[in-house]
Amino acid sequence: MFPKLLRGLVPFLLISATAAPAQSDAPVTGADLRRHIEILASDDFGGRAPGTPGEQRTIDYIAEQFRARGLEPAGENGSWFQPVGLVERTTRRHQVTWIADGRALPFDQANIALQGRDAETRIGGAPVIFAGHGARLPERGIDQLAGANVEGAVVLILFEGPNVPGFPSFTQRVAAVTEAGAAVVIAITSADIQWSFITRNYQRTTTKLASQRVAPVVGAMPFEAAQALVEAAGGDFGRLLNDQPGSSFRAVTLPIRADVDVDTEVRASTTNNVVGRLRGSGSSGESLLYLGHWDHFGTCRPEGEPDRICNGAIDNASGIAVMIEVAGRLSAQPRPARDILFLATTAEELGLLGAEYFATHPVVPLPSIVAAINLDSVAIHPAGLPVAVIGRGNAPLDAAIEATVAAVGRRLDTDNEADAMATRQDGWALARLGVPAILLGGSISDMDRLNQFLAGPYHGPEDEVGPDLILDGAAEDATLLVALGRRLADPALYSPAAEGQR
Ligand SMILES: [Zn+2]
Repeated sequence: MFPKLLRGLVPFLLISATAAPAQSDAPVTGADLRRHIEILASDDFGGRAPGTPGEQRTIDYIAEQFRARGLEPAGENGSWFQPVGLVERTTRRHQVTWIADGRALPFDQANIALQGRDAETRIGGAPVIFAGHGARLPERGIDQLAGANVEGAVVLILFEGPNVPGFPSFTQRVAAVTEAGAAVVIAITSADIQWSFITRNYQRTTTKLASQRVAPVVGAMPFEAAQALVEAAGGDFGRLLNDQPGSSFRAVTLPIRADVDVDTEVRASTTNNVVGRLRGSGSSGESLLYLGHWDHFGTCRPEGEPDRICNGAIDNASGIAVMIEVAGRLSAQPRPARDILFLATTAEELGLLGAEYFATHPVVPLPSIVAAINLDSVAIHPAGLPVAVIGRGNAPLDAAIEATVAAVGRRLDTDNEADAMATRQDGWALARLGVPAILLGGSISDMDRLNQFLAGPYHGPEDEVGPDLILDGAAEDATLLVALGRRLADPALYSPAAEGQR
């Protein structure tokens, strides 16, 4: 019953209720989620590609929804936004000349693929170093760059690493060689990778964070070409590979010098993460983080096609819708002690770039983030499915998830099948740097259903508001995510594992 005093207000409340109360304690419904998805995945938003008018509409919408739910801006300079610089690069022309004993060695330019960092790169007479895998792991006594003067050199490294747990990935090895000051980093690809596949990749435009350190030139060449090159200069590639066993390998300077010319089309742009904060009642300085990507592919089909817009209703208007509604529910309840951050990332579809930027330029110190929960493509399943988790293995977090799943009357899916997707979602950018990061729900429990989505509307114009959009499971997962958030934001109920245990 309404207190008498309020009765006169009821008609006004009913009028404003048609726009859905932003801060409500009621369980999240499919209709709540659909309202956001219909807007975010409408043709007006143009498929939400970074740097388009659709980006502005999207980030303004998310910021306004956050504001309406009592969040405060947590981006740059007191705003809702964290600008993220991107650089697109397309190779226009490249030419390499290898020189031994003052003469140019025969070399087919089709046997090398290169991309420059800047518009014009001219490198003359650079030393050429073979650095094995280019691995640098001082804590395990591995330093394959030791003793070589890498600064300004052309450094050749093997693309494929040994299958040893903890051995640095190709990306990490390239970063180590770049950090050491190499002018050119060239991956020698193994015979089982088709060279045409590599060259096609190098012909494409790439997008990277402007903040990422890249060598002036990166590239690749096939194994046989590297072998022929070393042998033409009088070396023995077989001995180079086999003489020095495993981890004790040291880089070898080859009796070759190189001239490298690369012309690259370079285009810089700025896009934005959106960040809001629900202020906690305590003062621990710790935060729980929800994240989900707002971006999608924009106009993704050529002129003349009947539907040219990739609207991204499931991927990932659905995750943003859940994040907004979860924020509203957590805001309507008594505040937990920890702060709760809500991060809508950009450029996920270009390689987790917005999340990567946040992870390397966090608005709070990374170790103060007690857990990160990613929301991605969550609207493909009915209610009643078990709860699968990407990122299990962190004992305190696993225990918190188990307790919450039981408390909301659901069942945990423990087969860890969904971990196959671990590196393909934004949470990975944080997990890599030691933040306990998870993605959970019914959407990743039924693999047949997930694969059906991936083989169907995924990344095409068919991912729009229509029969493929299923919201019952997403609404049920949202209720779980609210309960989990309350637990993880309460220091009495959850404290993260110490760094060493992660
Ligand atoms: Zn996607």
